[in-house]
Amino acid sequence: MPIKVVLNEDEIPRQWYNLNADLTPKNPILGPDLKPATPEWLGKMFPMNLLGQSISMDRWIDIPEEVLEILYKWRPSPLHRATGLEKALGTPAKIYYKNESVSPPGSHKPNTAVPQAFYSKQFGVERLTTETGAGQWGSALAFACALIGLECKVFMVRVSFDQKPFRKTMMQAWGADCVPSPSGETQAGRDILAANPDSPGSLGIAISEAIEAAIADESGKTKYSLGSVLPHVLLHQTIIGLEAKKQLEKIGEKKMDVVIGCAGGGSNFAGLAFPYLHDKINGAQIDIIPVEPFSCPTMTKAPYVYDYGDTAQVAPIAPMHSLGHTFVPPPIHAGGLRYHGMAPQVSQAIAAGLLAPQAVHQLECFQAAITFARTEGIIVAPETSHAVAVAIQEANKAKEEGKEKVILFNMSGHGLMDLRGYDLYFKGKLHDYEYPEEEIHKALDQIKDFPKPQSA
Ligand SMILES: *Cc1c(COP(=O)(O)O)cnc(C)c1O
Repeated sequence: MPIKVVLNEDEIPRQWYNLNADLTPKNPILGPDLKPATPEWLGKMFPMNLLGQSISMDRWIDIPEEVLEILYKWRPSPLHRATGLEKALGTPAKIYYKNESVSPPGSHKPNTAVPQAFYSKQFGVERLTTETGAGQWGSALAFACALIGLECKVFMVRVSFDQKPFRKTMMQAWGADCVPSPSGETQAGRDILAANPDSPGSLGIAISEAIEAAIADESGKTKYSLGSVLPHVLLHQTIIGLEAKKQLEKIGEKKMDVVIGCAGGGSNFAGLAFPYLHDKINGAQIDIIPVEPFSCPTMTKAPYVYDYGDTAQVAPIAPMHSLGHTFVPPPIHAGGLRYHGMAPQVSQAIAAGLLAPQAVHQLECFQAAITFARTEGIIVAPETSHAVAVAIQEANKAKEEGKEKVILFNMSGHGLMDLRGYDLYFKGKLHDYEYPEEEIHKALDQIKDFPKPQSA
């Protein structure tokens, strides 16, 4: 019985899978005038070659050789069979997980940071700005910019900046400049600080600052980079699912029953799941489950609407499940899962009935993470613990039904920089919290006159 399946470098997938080819986008991204966003306007934020990938309808897109050469530093990533966890649960199910924690910054995020830095440089960009929540994305982009040769500026959500000082140190080691957001460096940041000097910040605010900082450089040599949500980001992450398929094929595992990923903006989930969604669209029976916290219930409670990608309303207006762009999450939770929106492609797939989103409570997640640590040995990121919790639920369900199901989940990152959350859990200081439905309606009231996305 294989414990771990590895691929050689020459077996790495050489093309990314583009869901647009199989799930035609129905709703364009809008600009501030509520009309489809123009390339000129979007081009102030993003390099045009990456925008081109976002709207491409080609099913397969070549991965540049220069990008592969950097990805080889840790890819293909291992696929593990969770034999220890299976035994502890006494389940007849087979549980597999893709280990994205082996990248130097410790998560799946470099899978898109590297190509984004590469294409930006190819387009003549010299400096990237970005936001980061828990610090995973900021450190991934800092890493990629160091290897490709770009400057990098990171606006980090204040509460995480204070709680996870070593993420900032990692960014510094890779040569990036990281400041807490809201900062005094942008109008968006100054406005928020004037209204609330103790603002804990949010991803929405940090995005506003990073976009403003990019647009302010009129030479066009500074662009903004987003670590999740956009189609080209999800595209770059599909290398995860494509590798997993090859690895499972190698050990003769033909049929997948359940595919699981935690979802903040949707990128690691999509990276593993979209190649399987392709099979599902073509008739395969697979349960595909994105998992979120009850404290940020974007997919399970919030409607599918057009909403701003950020708080200060400088980002494009996207068709997505949204808690409202003014959403400020409770500061205690898994940082990477606190975004108010969800990737438009994931949102559209939910609206089309192709996915089965689930919410999990914080304490169940930490309990699952501890079980995983004591059976598989890996201390997962608090974000990842959401996927672990649902994998355990599914394995227990298989036990009740007496079915030998095959379950695959994405182990999106390790938690060695997030031990504060574990510490609070052990001290009994973490609590479950369900975001009130009224708050969602209140926040969405501001955008009630926006057009409605078509759902099917
Ligand atoms: C950022 C992050 C997430 C959430 O982001 P997605 O775009 O939804 O993948 C999940 N897990 C880890 C380890 C992360 O760093």
